[in-house]
Amino acid sequence: MSTNEKSAHFDTVNLHSDRSDKPEHGSLHKAVHTSIAFEYEDARDLAAVFQGKKNGYNYGRQQNPTVNALQNRITRMEGGHSTVAFATGMAAIGSILFSLLRQGDHVIASAFLFGNTNSLFNTFTNFGVEVSFVDATDCTAVKAALRPETRLVFVETIANPVTQIADLQGIGTLCQQHNLIFVVDNTITTPWLFSPRTVGATFIVNSLSKYFGGHGDALGGAVTDTGLYDWKDYPHLYDNYKTGPSSTWGMTQLKKKGLRDFGATLAPEAAHTLALGSETISLRVERACNNALTLARFFEAHPRVRKVNYPGLESHAQHARAALLFGQFGGLMSIELEEEIDCFDFLNRLQFVVSSSNLGDTRTLAIPVAHTIFFEMGAARRASMGIPDSMIRLAVGIENIEDLLADFTQALA
Ligand SMILES: *Cc1c(COP(=O)(O)O)cnc(C)c1O
Repeated sequence: MSTNEKSAHFDTVNLHSDRSDKPEHGSLHKAVHTSIAFEYEDARDLAAVFQGKKNGYNYGRQQNPTVNALQNRITRMEGGHSTVAFATGMAAIGSILFSLLRQGDHVIASAFLFGNTNSLFNTFTNFGVEVSFVDATDCTAVKAALRPETRLVFVETIANPVTQIADLQGIGTLCQQHNLIFVVDNTITTPWLFSPRTVGATFIVNSLSKYFGGHGDALGGAVTDTGLYDWKDYPHLYDNYKTGPSSTWGMTQLKKKGLRDFGATLAPEAAHTLALGSETISLRVERACNNALTLARFFEAHPRVRKVNYPGLESHAQHARAALLFGQFGGLMSIELEEEIDCFDFLNRLQFVVSSSNLGDTRTLAIPVAHTIFFEMGAARRASMGIPDSMIRLAVGIENIEDLLADFTQALA
């Protein structure tokens, strides 16, 4: 790419990302490289690649040119230092915990987490890692949970399904003061709405399965290293990974102990699909945000809707924070219907809105939360998270807003 990448905008840089990495045959898209093995004319180069003395590919579980191109794209989008992709968002999160924590460590996690992330943290407690779940909308709750053995703080930007916004700035500052790894799951906001680097994140997690790929047709996950954390004094790093600047050591261990040893590698075909989908991320997310805000205002004024959780509404507890950090308010919301309406009948009456568990699709999806995605955690934990049985989560898509309004109007009538 000959133009100045530094001065160009997010969309432009993203669209031209594959051209900056030695385009093959002038190809505008990175090719789908399906080979898992790579040949070297000089066997000494093969050895040098294995020893990390030379850049190159050794085996498809660790590296692939199509996946690398996607990783570079995400690094540019997040303004990060480097990125490693995984088969799913859960593999990305699991690999961080698995590769960098040990027995006796303590983790502070938001109490308002994606259900499977919550489940994963609970699993780690069986391996001697203690987890405190705190109200991350309030930095003082995080501070109160600090212990000498605290290593890592994990939060999401806009929590699912009640849409609480973590005190990202306050927690970022706290993590800097206490030298803690700060992991921000940016899935719901995407790098288009929010840059976790600006609040001091160490690692940025993106589930590529959602808004990033954006079409509900490929799974993927990624961890971006912002380069802001100095791993010099981090106790659990293996000596042979402490090469190069100390800001890169954690990522090296994540690639070796996480991606290589655990092996949840992103397939090149999926990497291609996700990269292609991401080219329209700004258009899609902007449309979803606009649709969601219009719908949230419609629901707030509707007599048969008891409650609306959406950060774009002035009634939302962290509305000002969301406006400051994200500008727009995302495509995710939840509503509670008046008691006389059966939530399953309501969902069945919807014509364009699909009953489905995904989010970040082009289509608007709806799901009864307590009966599905948050069923496994039980009534007590649901109550503590503010999730009543009547709650419906909406993942607003990019349809024409008139048709969405008409669909909800008839379903509520
Ligand atoms: C979906 C999701 C994940 C997990 O991603 P998968 O790709 O489905 O494994 C993690 N965090 C958040 C916020 C999500 O919405």
